[in-house]
Amino acid sequence: LYVKPIKKPLIIKSLEAILRRIPHDHESREKVSKKLGNYLSGYYGEQSLAYYLDQLPQKEFNIFHNIRIKTPNITFQIDFLLMTMKFILILEVKNLTGQLNFDGDLAQLIQTKPNEENKVYNDPVVQASDHKRHLALFLSKNNLHNIPISYLVVVTNPNAHITITSTDKNYRDKIIRSNILIKKISKLCEYYQKEMYSQAEMKRVSKLILKSCDETNQDILKRFGIEKSEIIKGVICDKCGYYPMQRIYGSWTCDRCKNTENEVHIQALNDYIYLLDNKITNCEFRSLLNIQSSKVANTLLNKLNLKHTGNNKSRTYHLPQNGFDSEF
Ligand SMILES: [Zn+2]
Repeated sequence: LYVKPIKKPLIIKSLEAILRRIPHDHESREKVSKKLGNYLSGYYGEQSLAYYLDQLPQKEFNIFHNIRIKTPNITFQIDFLLMTMKFILILEVKNLTGQLNFDGDLAQLIQTKPNEENKVYNDPVVQASDHKRHLALFLSKNNLHNIPISYLVVVTNPNAHITITSTDKNYRDKIIRSNILIKKISKLCEYYQKEMYSQAEMKRVSKLILKSCDETNQDILKRFGIEKSEIIKGVICDKCGYYPMQRIYGSWTCDRCKNTENEVHIQALNDYIYLLDNKITNCEFRSLLNIQSSKVANTLLNKLNLKHTGNNKSRTYHLPQNGFDSEF
């Protein structure tokens, strides 16, 4: 059972929004593209695990994808957390290609690709073990008794050539390929026989984890040296990229390719959420969508059924933190 299903992470949606909304010649564009590529590759790796996770007994497993737990002391992020009544399993997913040398003795991962310089990463095995420690502390601080927590590093890229340099057998056992995952989990199920959590406690932990999840973007624009004022406004044509589309007779029309759409302003609003703010006034909404009539703006805003505070001109609409669900 997916308590938190596999969904495109907010950071990816935000980076995609940046690329849509900064000028083509913006100096940060390359940096953002590169970062987006890395995140997307990781996300594809995570998605590819669905095939295996779907084979688990759905009743016994609570599955969380991409959780970022915020505690007063530390924030830590886990790619997948699998919880049963008997144990918890943390999965750290790596979708890197090329030759991957996991160097356990020096706690580093070295990636070698033909005609490229070697890249050195933090050892994901160490990362996963840190996550285990943080999670155990988080649970005990919330008065939940000790449940065994195990962890694995899953290499999802079939083209990766894995080598492991470590004298520690325990370390070697932590690194697997996707196709071994189910077998490994079966072994853990055999090993951990004692029920640690009741159904009620499982529910409590699930709620607690979801409640502690923090997916807000921390100053994403600042991180890439982009000013709020540089963000391009207007509804962007999803056929040809031209902006702003014009609101004519209740739909959006592109001046360049003559494409018309009804709901395409949702994407502009999502980009606003990802990059600028999670609340909006009628005036800001008009400026975002390049419309003059506050009546039209009102109609569009009311259709979205948003929570709002304040009255009349000072009314502020509260936008969903993760954006509106749509095919965009
Ligand atoms: Zn167009």
